[in-house]
Amino acid sequence: MRPSAARMLLRALLRRCPNCGSPGIFAGYTTLREHCPRCGLRLHRGESDYFIGAYLLNLVAVELLFALILGIIFVATYPHTPWRLLQWGGLVLMIAGAVLCYPFAKSVWLAADLIFRPLTPEELEWHRRGGSAEERQELPHL
Ligand SMILES: [Zn+2]
Repeated sequence: MRPSAARMLLRALLRRCPNCGSPGIFAGYTTLREHCPRCGLRLHRGESDYFIGAYLLNLVAVELLFALILGIIFVATYPHTPWRLLQWGGLVLMIAGAVLCYPFAKSVWLAADLIFRPLTPEELEWHRRGGSAEERQELPHL
């Protein structure tokens, strides 16, 4: 049975497989394993450039975080806004936020992809047996 969109996003935020909820999909802080250890889903869905979307998602998340914090500090301290703090603190926040959010962006991107391009039993079987790119073309929904 296919998990709900909310469940897949929650699993992704916990750095678990959005499809089955298994932990251990990361080999390192930012490095995804090739396959989910439980369900066998290829975590790049068999695409070499799959995580360009994760880069974009990470960029947007960090920019929104920066804008939110900037707005809160600006409103809370107006008219004595600490511009120097915002300038240098913003720089640190942007760099640290990009590093801290990146693994979550990868798993959330996978969840979003599974929501908009649902995993079929045929595709999951293709992932489990390590099918080739040519076979992938034969999958009807991809
Ligand atoms: Zn899984």
